[in-house]
Amino acid sequence: MAQAERELDEAVKEHGPETPVAFTNTAYYLPVIYGYTGQKVETLDGMTPILEKARAFLTPVPTDKLWLPYLGETLDAGVATLFAQEIIEALRFVRGEQPERMSLSGLALPPAAPATDSAFTAPDEAAVEGRVVSAPSRGSYTLNGPIDDIQLRTWGIQLVDGRMPGFAAIVGCAKSNEVAVKIVRELQRRGILIFLSGNVNGRSIIHQLVEEGVQLGYDTYTVPFGTDTISAIYALGFATRSALTFGGLTGGQAREVLEYNKNRVFAFVLALGEVDDLKYATAAGAITYGFPVIADTLIPQILPTGITTYEHVVSMPFDEIRGNDDLERAERLVERCIEIRGVKISMVDVDIPVAYGPAFEGEIVRREAMQMEFGARTTPGFEYLRMADPDDVQDGRVQVVGPDLDEMEEGSNNPIGIVVEVAGRRMQEDFEPVLERQIHHLVNFAEGLQHIGQRDITWIRVSKNTYTRGFRLAHLGNILHASLHSDFSAIVDKVQITVYTNLEQVEELRSVARAAFQERNVKTANLTDESVDTFYSCTLCQSFAPDHVCIINPERVGLCGAYNWLDCRASYELNPNGPNQPVVKRGLISEELGEWESFNEFVYQHSNTNIDRMTLYSIMDAPMTSCGCFECIMMLIPEANGFMIVSRDDPSMTPAGMTFSTLAGMAGGGQQSPGMMGHGKYYLLSKKFIPKEGGFKAVVWMSANLKEEMRAELQEVCEGIGEPDLLDKIADSNVATTVEELMAYLEDIGHPALKMPSLL
Ligand code: SF4
Ligand code: ZN
Repeated sequence: MAQAERELDEAVKEHGPETPVAFTNTAYYLPVIYGYTGQKVETLDGMTPILEKARAFLTPVPTDKLWLPYLGETLDAGVATLFAQEIIEALRFVRGEQPERMSLSGLALPPAAPATDSAFTAPDEAAVEGRVVSAPSRGSYTLNGPIDDIQLRTWGIQLVDGRMPGFAAIVGCAKSNEVAVKIVRELQRRGILIFLSGNVNGRSIIHQLVEEGVQLGYDTYTVPFGTDTISAIYALGFATRSALTFGGLTGGQAREVLEYNKNRVFAFVLALGEVDDLKYATAAGAITYGFPVIADTLIPQILPTGITTYEHVVSMPFDEIRGNDDLERAERLVERCIEIRGVKISMVDVDIPVAYGPAFEGEIVRREAMQMEFGARTTPGFEYLRMADPDDVQDGRVQVVGPDLDEMEEGSNNPIGIVVEVAGRRMQEDFEPVLERQIHHLVNFAEGLQHIGQRDITWIRVSKNTYTRGFRLAHLGNILHASLHSDFSAIVDKVQITVYTNLEQVEELRSVARAAFQERNVKTANLTDESVDTFYSCTLCQSFAPDHVCIINPERVGLCGAYNWLDCRASYELNPNGPNQPVVKRGLISEELGEWESFNEFVYQHSNTNIDRMTLYSIMDAPMTSCGCFECIMMLIPEANGFMIVSRDDPSMTPAGMTFSTLAGMAGGGQQSPGMMGHGKYYLLSKKFIPKEGGFKAVVWMSANLKEEMRAELQEVCEGIGEPDLLDKIADSNVATTVEELMAYLEDIGHPALKMPSLL
């Protein structure tokens, strides 16, 4: 408290009370303070009442007071600590002391597996090389500072579908570098997001990991906030923002924000090394969120439950943990943390010589670190999954036809063909693409493997380290065999895998695969809303946005972009009581709006009776609700009689005077907001793209990055609707970031929306 008060005082004297304060790229101000109090701290001046409030939480510590079994004063002091910490961090921004984050580290991965099978683009080496990590090489690193809203939303879908079951805020320094790496690997293996901060006598776990060459960054689920304890506040800011973003809560709903975290965000604090007063005080703040604290040293415990689900503070002195060596102790420590927080983990046991789990999905294998690669544009690479007769499939059979890794030159580029044959009583041809698309992340989950693309543009890299540890091509088969069985047990009875590496056979089989891909393309193109009688619901996001329901029709992907109609149908087969339920079209109310009685009833029942109407073909009249993990947001610009489309990874200003983060804050949380709607990016290519409001012709502004990324496909759309020049008539942030600029551009270029019937 004293530090915050003193630094604020100095900052006001030096910079003036009106000086603006903000964390980068968030629409939630200083999020912990905003969540707790609803106060939007935007200037130095605005900090003063917050610190006064925090001061009032502190009660003097009487020396002669009896010990009492309640925590009230401790928790109050914890909250005061959090407020002070957030202010201290924000003041660092004012003084320009915040580490500049690498400009690319916040970007999402390139879209390797698009939601619709018909649309895919060739992988681009530049885009991949651009996936910068925070620890580019041993010995140097970049501290992250606060996580931006874009990244929070990008993780949204992983948080809801269980790939990312929770987060661990690690504070301090492990007993040894080896133990530090082991703890992080154990957490990564389970898909737990890891926030790193703090130190013990100047040495931080961040130093330990960097010294051991561990890749830190968003892509590997490891975020280094800072080497002091105060930066741990960003973990709680992240927690607060999950509640605001996905829970539909607003600042000041303190109780709801905290309960949301207790019930839905499976986080814990792991304190490594000596726990000093500041760490104690921070821990007390974390407990208010329902996050327990586990220390690897001897400290007083707080075992009664109540605010957290189980114990509040648990002491587990490292050297007293049972185990043959430190590595085993580290593993037990992680297991105990998971138990105390009640994190639910599902893990597949894959028999390969390297670690395996979702945290390795975004890991990069740079050219220098690469042993060899496959199918990198200059050589053919494909992957093809097909249904086969049960008699022709021998479960678990893995064959490698052609040279294996140890017969390939270091740094070489080789052909590859992966053929997966699946048999199962409930397997259907329609599930082939759904299962095939899994290959991408299943292969990526292996430490030191990088997989990009799909179908006939597969590109795989194997790292030197992974090769040296004994990884060979047959292990690819082991991965696919084990994971397909575990993730799709209801439709997969038998799987066999053949990996081809000789050019002739790869080329021959690639043409067989291509013919099948072509057939699938035609089938997908013919799959229209009219051609089926059942649409599917998705309520996966209800774990975060309790009122949200997606209805997924063949011509519209879920707004996260991760689920299309075929996926939902397969998912229903896999798990009939799961989040994807069939809803039969019944009781047509309006064909134009895409409104049916059966969908209205379903949505009403599943939105806690908050939404009683929902149309599928309109954004102005009862549009679909928006959870928080949407890829794009679409919003009416009344002056232009059209809509703007803002993509999640576009940080620039829009003509609405708001950035994506702010817009998303208005639309998210499972609300229905006419004129505003979250959607998946492939929805833009659909013939059922807001047909009631005029379809793609009504788009007047679009994020420049999205326009470029999807240029070829969007051009096809424009030609299909008889407006071949439309794409260049759509403005972007290069030509307009205000309504005035937008109007001038549209009028000048003659955008068709201006002549369309008024949307209002
Ligand atoms: Fe969430 Fe909708 Fe995606 Fe399902 S389809 S995961 S409900 S956004
Ligand atoms: Zn969602």
